[in-house]
Amino acid sequence: MKISKKNTKNLIDQASILSKALPFMQRYSGKNITIKFGGAVMGDLNLSTSFAKDIVLLKQVGINPVVVHGGGPKIQKMLDKLNVKSNFIDGLRVTDKETMNIVEMVLSGSINKEIVMEINKEGGSAIGLSGKDALLAETKKIKINKNVDKSSDLGFVGEPKKINEDLLIWFLKSHFIPVISPIGFDKNHDTFNINADTMSGHVASAISSERLILLTDVDGVLDKKGNLLTEISLNQIHKLIKNGTVTGGMIPKVETCINAVKNGVKAAVILNGNLPHAILLEIFTESGVGTLITK
Ligand code: ADP
Ligand code: MG
Repeated sequence: MKISKKNTKNLIDQASILSKALPFMQRYSGKNITIKFGGAVMGDLNLSTSFAKDIVLLKQVGINPVVVHGGGPKIQKMLDKLNVKSNFIDGLRVTDKETMNIVEMVLSGSINKEIVMEINKEGGSAIGLSGKDALLAETKKIKINKNVDKSSDLGFVGEPKKINEDLLIWFLKSHFIPVISPIGFDKNHDTFNINADTMSGHVASAISSERLILLTDVDGVLDKKGNLLTEISLNQIHKLIKNGTVTGGMIPKVETCINAVKNGVKAAVILNGNLPHAILLEIFTESGVGTLITK
């Protein structure tokens, strides 16, 4: 094949782009990166493929990714199908034993294996885990303030109390890529549902991640006018929650980021998983694309 001048230029451009990734590969080489794969992004086939490719590329260049995933709309769909009704308190689903069984089935059975296979299709060696495997996530029940409502009990909804990082570290040193579903157990060996943001933060701290990346469906933390805040400090975050700028599902995200950077994670980033190759944009470019949270 004869290579035209134009073609040569394209090839040189491509080589030059690859070469620009070198300092970032050197910076992150051997480091751990925890990534939370969010609800909205998970449903889209093209984005899941681009996500899986990014994860495999990280591992290939000597960076160690750990994936924690959420549930997305699949849990509600299955509950509807099986005709199990849920009550909500302050936006949190009251999770009884029957609901918990279905939540676990969808998270650890269906969604976890889908993500594992997406990564493996791209040439990775992903391995699915839940917080039960090797006692990864010991959990404590979340109690809501009984002064507010005496009857309030969320059931089997918890937060990690202790992460047993041994198994994770073992995987990180190998060619395996752990993919974790946010399910935990308590001292009575009951099963608990954990918010995936919260789970990812605890995992990130336990393995001293260089970065915690929370992929979501918005560009990052937005101010009152809808402009992206590219960098926020811990003090600013408290103000943003207090004055009602950060609400709803963004609250557990920023709280997770605060706790993570206070507990051994270098920096946390909230960014839009709808961007193709969002992870590569974050790790291999100087400016980054979402909201960066550092100490
Ligand atoms: P995920 O599935 O990624 O956990 P959530 O819906 O739980 O997504 O959380 C992200 C949502 O948080 C956004 O879609 C947005 O509606 C809401 N949100 C609330 N306050 C803010 C804010 N200040 N900036 C950006 N998003 C916000
Ligand atoms: Mg959420």
